[in-house]
Amino acid sequence: MNFKLSEAATQRRDIMRMAAEGLMRPIARQYDEEEHTDAWDFFNAMWEASKSNRDAASMTGEGNADKKEKSSGETKRKRRENTLMSAVQIEELAWGDAGLYLSIPNPGLGGAAVSAAGTPEQKARFLGSFHDGKPKWAAMAITEPHFGSDSKQVATTARRDGDEWVLNGTKIFCTSGHRALEKSEGFVVVWATLDKNKGRAAIKSFIVPAGTPGVIVTKCEDKLGIRASDTAQITFEDARVPADHILGSPEIVEKGTEGFRGVMATFDATRPIVAASGIGVARAALDFVKQALADEGVEIRYEAPQCEMTVLEHEIIWMESQLQASRLLTWRACNMMDRGDRNSREAAMSKAKAGKVCTLVTQKCVAIMGPLGFSRKLLLEKWMRDAKITDIYEGTQQINQMIIARDILGYSSSELN
Ligand SMILES: Cc1cc2nc3c(=O)[nH]c(=O)nc-3n(C[C@H](O)[C@H](O)[C@H](O)COP(=O)(O)OP(=O)(O)OC[C@H]3O[C@@H](n4cnc5c(N)ncnc54)[C@H](O)[C@@H]3O)c2cc1C
Repeated sequence: MNFKLSEAATQRRDIMRMAAEGLMRPIARQYDEEEHTDAWDFFNAMWEASKSNRDAASMTGEGNADKKEKSSGETKRKRRENTLMSAVQIEELAWGDAGLYLSIPNPGLGGAAVSAAGTPEQKARFLGSFHDGKPKWAAMAITEPHFGSDSKQVATTARRDGDEWVLNGTKIFCTSGHRALEKSEGFVVVWATLDKNKGRAAIKSFIVPAGTPGVIVTKCEDKLGIRASDTAQITFEDARVPADHILGSPEIVEKGTEGFRGVMATFDATRPIVAASGIGVARAALDFVKQALADEGVEIRYEAPQCEMTVLEHEIIWMESQLQASRLLTWRACNMMDRGDRNSREAAMSKAKAGKVCTLVTQKCVAIMGPLGFSRKLLLEKWMRDAKITDIYEGTQQINQMIIARDILGYSSSELN
């Protein structure tokens, strides 16, 4: 892997940095305080920007939709760094504001699921539609009131009735669920079981478009951090979708979990992206503290012998090195994805590392600034709150560590859980 970013990636990074500084930072506190309010001016600006540049759509997963071979070397090169480009851009956007970044109209997790497991027709139809018309969101609904980590516990049911699937159940903590279903013509990818007695093999995912009768957003969560992002509870009461809205095969292959693995592959693409967003939040805090120290004439003596460094210098250098280690792990996971290599272990490693590092770094930054760090006058306390989610969604810290251990030790999920 070449760790030098391509010219195209550098350009995209710089554009995102401008958006982060100019559009996101000025409204970050407002939308943190006004949870459940929509930043429509910001949404429209980002939607227009992504429409005018097709590359920007790749950061939302759409870039993987079109697998048709194209002849130009430039297109192939871009595809080879699609995931890496996304990580680089998202670090910048999360540096601007993690909650607002998550709120940008885009195919999000739902789109990533369609990219990972959808047919060419499903990709063209559901991801392609994101290039036209008004801002749209898509979401993925796995978590239910009685489980989060243990996804084989899915109790939402899907029953075949003629040319349709009928869904029943409740999903909670669905990022962008409200905006996907009630504020735009988006969709939610819903995990449901065809037969509760048949475990993982019977769990399938279904594309549920906005406007489907029987789909109701019953609640929007009040949260600790990423408060600009919407997190919805959704119930499905005899919600019917056409038969071709299933992702993957409807067959239950009892001796295998291929279908389940297909949907789990979504996380190989999205965990490094979550890692990148955590790195962005932590970098925001560290940049702020370094600037505050510089403003007070405090210099970090990188060349000084370790034994002569102040505690503060040790802390800053440690935080910088940890962030860089997280970033390199993240880029490696992205690079493997872009090359078409299996990256489940590296994706989990990047997220576990970034989750731990961004939580620690933001806490340390608050501590270094003392009472000011704790004050709402600055964004530091907000970044500390925003960072924590990196360790919770798309597999908690412990779950990602378990995935890594299983992969290294060669255990199955039933042997190590
Ligand atoms: C803001 C937000 C947005 C979210 N967005 C989405 C979304 O878009 N779609 C979606 O489907 N879900 C979403 N979630 C849900 C999230 O993915 C789950 O909260 C997460 O997977 C953890 O599941 P849980 O809450 O049931 O916790 P639990 O699984 O009950 O875990 C609780 C604690 O126990 C630990 N633990 C659990 N099992 C083990 C084990 N085997 N070994 C060791 N430790 C273990 C966990 O690490 C955790 O610390 C979101 C959550 C939040 C807070």
